[in-house]
Amino acid sequence: MTDVKVSKIALLPGDGIGPEITREAVKVLAAVSNRFGWRYKLNEGLIGGIAIDKTGQPLPPETLQLCQASDAVLMGSIGGPKWDTTDPKGVRPEQGLLAIRKELGLFANLRPVKLVPALVEASTLKPDVVAGVDILVVRELTGGLYFGARGRLNGKVFDTLEYSDAEIERVLKVAFQLAQKRRRQVHSIDKANVLESSRRWRELATEVSKQFSDVQLEHMLVDNCAMQLIRNPKQFDVLVTENMFGDILSDEAAMLTGSLGMLASASLGGGSYPALYEPAHGSAPDIAGQNRANPLATILSVALMFRFSFQRFDIADAIEEAVSQVLAAGYRTPDIAAANCRVVSTEEMGSLVAAALKG
Ligand code: NAD
Repeated sequence: MTDVKVSKIALLPGDGIGPEITREAVKVLAAVSNRFGWRYKLNEGLIGGIAIDKTGQPLPPETLQLCQASDAVLMGSIGGPKWDTTDPKGVRPEQGLLAIRKELGLFANLRPVKLVPALVEASTLKPDVVAGVDILVVRELTGGLYFGARGRLNGKVFDTLEYSDAEIERVLKVAFQLAQKRRRQVHSIDKANVLESSRRWRELATEVSKQFSDVQLEHMLVDNCAMQLIRNPKQFDVLVTENMFGDILSDEAAMLTGSLGMLASASLGGGSYPALYEPAHGSAPDIAGQNRANPLATILSVALMFRFSFQRFDIADAIEEAVSQVLAAGYRTPDIAAANCRVVSTEEMGSLVAAALKG
């Protein structure tokens, strides 16, 4: 008997709209299994606010073990007002997210910003500015301000931005390697006119670029980049930047595609642990439980899972094509609704994509 591989996926729905949107991604996984004969096993774990409520910890050890023993991790979103606190010693859902990234060594966060042609009217920018936008944001994910020492001392507060050369070099290499498969252009984003960490980032970007002579490197200051993303986003192919700049710029870039609800992400590490896939948006407490969240960012994150973790490019393409078809047919969740379109719920959108998937 031939041994058919069963892929193990850790599913972490999280808080707010997390359970609603991951439910739709699971529908698409079931459709993939049907149409492509791909075999998988889902195991669910706790993370974020719900994990704090049930175990007192935002990333319980069982969840970490489950993820470490899986081939890929699919996450919804975490956080919400229930767990917000300004107490420096307080337990927060976001600590679970930062911890899982650190523990799995997920240093490179990929956020493809590609406009689906049918959504050209959904962006708040003019169609001729956004049509054809295809950017890959590569954000450093396990260093910088979000992980440095912080505190309050004698009436002062501080957050520390620290990087080792190795941390900077490895994420730059990922960006250059991905650019080689795209339009061979990297914009390295920094604040080298002010920050020492950015000056080192810029030196290392120039150094690393020598190993990729077929890729063109440009340096750009982060404030200029924020402006250029709105003025002329089509000038960008791959953007690579440190953790906090990437956090902010990728949300800005998401709006080129019409909604945060469309932006998928993949977080990749060095290979010893599985990669993690999640929508780039948060838990959207304002619409949680209303069956109106857009599940497409999560479904498109599943496509990234097939591309990067399972090397099933055929399945990744089929999922992206199914999403494009459903949008081209005029179906929209409320966040991307437009005139003459049919507004559907979270559940309906998931079912439509699953039904449109071709094996
Ligand atoms: P958010 O991304 O949750 O929401 C921002 C706005 O976008 C809201 O109006 C929301 O309704 C809308 N939105 C987001 N996702 C949507 C979707 N799929 N469909 C339709 N509309 C969508 O950001 P926020 O409000 O600043 O944060 C809410 C909570 O999420 C906070 O607790 C924050 O810490 C957390 N958060 C978590 C993650 C994560 O899990 N990776 C990321 C960012 C923020």
